[in-house]
Amino acid sequence: MRASEYGLDTHYDRIQDEVRAVLDGVAPEDREPTGGRLSPLLVKAFAESNLSEHMVAARHGGRTETIDPLAVCVIREALMNSSSQLDALFSLQGIGSYALSRAGHPEVQQHWLPRIARGEALAAMALTEPHAGSDLKSITTTMHEDGDDLVISGHKNYISHASVADVITVFVREGEGYSLAVVPARTPGLRIEDGPTLIAPHEVSDLYFDEVRVPRSHRIGAPGEAFEHVLATLTVFRASVAGSAVGLAQAALDTALEHCVTREQFGRPLWKLGAVGALLADCAGEVEMARLLAYRAAGRAKAGSPDALDYSSMAKLATTEIACRVVDRCLQTMGRFGLEAEGHMAQLYLIARPLRIYEGANEVLRLGVARYLVGAR
Ligand SMILES: Cc1cc2nc3c(=O)[nH]c(=O)nc-3n(C[C@H](O)[C@H](O)[C@H](O)COP(=O)(O)OP(=O)(O)OC[C@H]3O[C@@H](n4cnc5c(N)ncnc54)[C@H](O)[C@@H]3O)c2cc1C
Repeated sequence: MRASEYGLDTHYDRIQDEVRAVLDGVAPEDREPTGGRLSPLLVKAFAESNLSEHMVAARHGGRTETIDPLAVCVIREALMNSSSQLDALFSLQGIGSYALSRAGHPEVQQHWLPRIARGEALAAMALTEPHAGSDLKSITTTMHEDGDDLVISGHKNYISHASVADVITVFVREGEGYSLAVVPARTPGLRIEDGPTLIAPHEVSDLYFDEVRVPRSHRIGAPGEAFEHVLATLTVFRASVAGSAVGLAQAALDTALEHCVTREQFGRPLWKLGAVGALLADCAGEVEMARLLAYRAAGRAKAGSPDALDYSSMAKLATTEIACRVVDRCLQTMGRFGLEAEGHMAQLYLIARPLRIYEGANEVLRLGVARYLVGAR
């Protein structure tokens, strides 16, 4: 599927080629490990690729003058089509560093961003806590100034890839407001432990901050500005979850098609048994719609449209619901073979499920989209 067939510049076709070359460097059987833990082989393959350059602006060693949300979306679609772990490694480089790129202290930017662009440093983002998920304002992790330092205490959990991250953007309560701070992963007082094993091959960790000290320059922007930077991050990266959902749905459809063309029942290939062909046709239409919406939302984020966050939320909501529907239908077309735990379809089924929960649970996004619709009347 060429991006230019959907109205994007041919520049994005070349980006798709770049991702395919990275994927070609990883044996197909290594691309989607089972179990919940990160594959060291994929971490290495990602670090050695140049993909991280897309997550940093050119002045800090990145590929384009400013981070291009359309490129991020197209790359995630291509990665998720073959490897959810490579997709997650790529996305977290941006999610974990976008606020730093936007408003970090120049010295801290200069230290971390070129390393992130070269893939030498991995980034993570810590918002969630045991008692604060969708209700972010209820966090209890605190930060206060002490001389030239910032001191952080609290507990974050479900933090993707913190086990391999070199630098973590941390969301904290500071006085009456909320701030973001950059915390190097090896800072004394920060303990990182394995989190629960999830149904998808996605690794999360618990972070314990025991009076962790970082220089004052590690606050991102001014005290109390956290939500501004978090929302800017979500504007770009929710649209990219939509790209990821499209890549996954396309993989499910391709796998189902392969099966339905080759397996016969009642003397005919499965796709010719009316109901099965209809399932495939419904999936194809939804995948096409999802792709168009993902690109549209990412395009609005790139253009800096005033409603870019609303479109990103709408695209994340709609495409992740589609991905789950598509993979469920595709599994159905394969009968019992879709249920084999080590099989591709069963893996896609499990990988799809968290998409509706992270980066804004879909029910919460629905509330925001409805508010936008009413406000835009
Ligand atoms: C694979 C994975 C990776 C993650 N990675 C990270 C990470 O790197 N960093 C990080 O900070 N966090 C991460 N998270 C956490 C994620 O951001 C939260 O899971 C998410 O914000 C939802 O919070 P919750 O799971 O606590 O659900 P809850 O907030 O407890 O919500 C439970 C249910 O109630 C619904 N709900 C909640 N509030 C409302 C409302 N106001 N109206 C209607 N319905 C509502 C939700 O939609 C959901 O269905 C990750 C989670 C997963 C699954």
